Amino acid sequence: MYKKILSGILSLVCLICFSSAAISQEQIQEAQQGKYVGTKFSMTYHFKYCPWVKKAKAKDKIMFKSVKEARKAGYQACQLCSPPIKD
Ligand SMILES: [Zn+2]
Repeated sequence: MYKKILSGILSLVCLICFSSAAISQEQIQEAQQGKYVGTKFSMTYHFKYCPWVKKAKAKDKIMFKSVKEARKAGYQACQLCSPPIKD
């Protein structure tokens, strides 16, 4: 009985540890890679959650830290996720 409760608590703690680690890892990655994602085949930039970004292959993606950077590279705002056209 006690053993069952203990293993339940342990797995819960593990789950909390794991999920918080995953979030911070993602945040670090985001800070390193930039805010917007450009897709090379369409020359548009997107929010990260845009379906186009999810569809694009890694080699077709480029990270931009700002809108200014994306526009300087000749990229246009996506019509679907509509990121800002100015910083
Ligand atoms: Zn988009």
